[in-house]
Amino acid sequence: MSGEYFATGHCLCGAVNYTISAAPVRMGQCHCDDCRRTSGTGHASNAFFNKKHVRIEGETSHYDSTTDTGSIITRHFCPKCGSRLFGENNAAANIIAVTAGTLDESHWFKANAIVYNKRKPMWDIMDENIPTFEEMPAPLEK
Ligand SMILES: [Zn+2]
Ligand SMILES: [Zn+2]
Repeated sequence: MSGEYFATGHCLCGAVNYTISAAPVRMGQCHCDDCRRTSGTGHASNAFFNKKHVRIEGETSHYDSTTDTGSIITRHFCPKCGSRLFGENNAAANIIAVTAGTLDESHWFKANAIVYNKRKPMWDIMDENIPTFEEMPAPLEK
């Protein structure tokens, strides 16, 4: 287990580490074009936390892109090994997304929603019991 923390994680090379001190506010999987490209796979799996509960050690590089609604998503990655670690959206300034694949233990992860299903590749098979949306539903935007 993660001891005193809710969760811990790190990038592939270990240059960036993080600790999380409370449970996520929500969890989701996104198949949008940007998440597919940055993950190199069929979707991104993200757990969203209050920023005050996530402590990051190590420098990240980042890339900004604009969402369909005009907000800016800043995706952070390790400058050395390229692992995708965190995401921030300027429409939800107190929230940080953590990529589920970089967690040391992620047995607790369960997506509450699958978004941008219309961009899902045929080969990326999802759990049909998870609420699924063709685009980004308004209540989840922030
Ligand atoms: Zn790294
Ligand atoms: Zn996305």
